[in-house]
Amino acid sequence: MDFQPSPVAVEWRNRIAAFIDLFVLPYNAAWHASAARGEFPAFVEDLKALARGEGLWNLCLPRLAPGEPGTRLSNLDYAPLAETIGRLPWSAEVFNCSAPDSGNMELLQLHATEAQREQWLVPLLEGRIRSAFAMSEPDVASSDPTNLQTSVRCDGEELVLNGRKWFITGAAHPNCRLLVVMARNEDADPATRHGGHSIVLVPADAPGVTRVRNIAIMQHEALEGHCEITLRNVRVPRANLLGEWGQGFVLAQSRLGPGRVHHCMRTIGQCELALELACERALERRTFGHYLSEQANVQEWIAQSRLEIDQARLLVLRAAWSLDQPEPPDDLRAQVAAIKVVAARLQVQVVDRAMQVFGAMGLSPDTPLAWLWTWGRALRFMDGPDEVHLRTVARYELERARARRGSTAAYFTTPDQLSTPPRIR
Ligand SMILES: Cc1cc2nc3c(=O)[nH]c(=O)nc-3n(C[C@H](O)[C@H](O)[C@H](O)COP(=O)(O)OP(=O)(O)OC[C@H]3O[C@@H](n4cnc5c(N)ncnc54)[C@H](O)[C@@H]3O)c2cc1C
Repeated sequence: MDFQPSPVAVEWRNRIAAFIDLFVLPYNAAWHASAARGEFPAFVEDLKALARGEGLWNLCLPRLAPGEPGTRLSNLDYAPLAETIGRLPWSAEVFNCSAPDSGNMELLQLHATEAQREQWLVPLLEGRIRSAFAMSEPDVASSDPTNLQTSVRCDGEELVLNGRKWFITGAAHPNCRLLVVMARNEDADPATRHGGHSIVLVPADAPGVTRVRNIAIMQHEALEGHCEITLRNVRVPRANLLGEWGQGFVLAQSRLGPGRVHHCMRTIGQCELALELACERALERRTFGHYLSEQANVQEWIAQSRLEIDQARLLVLRAAWSLDQPEPPDDLRAQVAAIKVVAARLQVQVVDRAMQVFGAMGLSPDTPLAWLWTWGRALRFMDGPDEVHLRTVARYELERARARRGSTAAYFTTPDQLSTPPRIR
């Protein structure tokens, strides 16, 4: 077992880190000032062009076809890069590695027709457009997507959609042109749980699509948006159906694995940054004649954060490695579910400790901590709440226990175990 990142990963991570330090970080304050005014900074397009020119583009897509732009790094090799990019969350767009586009691009790579690839995948890979994934709905518990009620029906050569979606990340981005919409087939058998939904590619400006509002998350309104959207008799060509009619769940699953690894590695980068900030602050701030770094409780917070970050990183790297295997292990789904829970909780915990070290300043917009904490809290819902992922892990464990049932009997010391043991010689 080799715990070092591969030479390829080290080389790309160093290139990304140098590019961020030289070209992206100097724009950080300007990016936030622009976001506070609700304006998308124009310099992001310039930075994208620069990054693409340097080959720092589509770093997270291992399955690019010949001729498509990008690095073709494995999930495992991309993971340290995602950690580096995560330290400056808005920088993901500079390298065309943002959620939800990366997941949507994976989905299109796997299931789009030639015409759909041409219309949507190519401009996404080129960074000319952005996209959103529209699943959650206000009227039903969306942790269980079989509840979804937005409807789709066939009408001649068209599909007609009706419904309301919310918390749709990316839908307020000025370049968002595509909504990947999960909808319930009107002709679905009500008894069907997983075969009654389809995914439809809906142009963001299609007649009948209305962006109702950008929903603030813990009082923070994200520039790219977490939007509420209505679909009223939205008509798109039948050719906009992605994959097969009724196969929405099968398709949706395929976009979640790598996307979760990316989220988790970005989280780990953010936790590392929070820990660095906390340590530096503790070394320079004095109370009652001592530096904070000399206080036992602060040392414990620092140590605890280090232990938790390192544990989480190992878990996420294992999931990334598993995703890369030609024959992934049986517990792949449980592994990916586990890292989603661990990373989101980690972020809330580690950033909370850092905020405490900073005192009141930790809650202000002068450090990245308040934003990082908010994001960590939101992560506990994004792509499904903790409880749903824990359920996946528990189900896998129970399935294994069922298969080996009785194998623990010899560990009991009840009287019925007192039969004659086998002779050693
Ligand atoms: C910042 C942010 C961005 C988001 N981006 C997107 C996006 O781009 N696209 C999109 O479609 N959605 C998005 N979402 C929505 C997100 O996917 C949903 O919030 C999530 O799936 C939970 O659905 P819900 O909010 O309807 O909660 P509900 O389904 O109503 O669940 C409420 C609570 O019930 C509990 N619960 C649920 N199931 C179980 C269970 N089996 N066992 C025990 N407890 C359970 C959990 O504690 C859960 O929090 C985003 C959310 C946030 C906060």
